[in-house]
Amino acid sequence: MESDGTTCELCGSVAEVREHRQITAKQLNKAFYYSRWYYCNNPKCSRNVFMKKEHEVWNQNEAAAQVKMFEQSRDQAAHIRNIALEI
Ligand SMILES: [Zn+2]
Repeated sequence: MESDGTTCELCGSVAEVREHRQITAKQLNKAFYYSRWYYCNNPKCSRNVFMKKEHEVWNQNEAAAQVKMFEQSRDQAAHIRNIALEI
């Protein structure tokens, strides 16, 4: 079992590291993929797989552009709401 010392956020067991053996079109067609993720081996744990934001790899494609645009407009909406509250 491979590990980088990361523990499961739910049960505290040391989690197993998983990585793509190869990056294929499946990953590249998505907005982003995870270069690494974690697998909790504890059979009693309900959270078997989890990821970290730092392992997000963003693609330069249409899907990524759309997600980023959506996040930007969400930020703008929050900003406009904040201004409205200040007034
Ligand atoms: Zn766990």
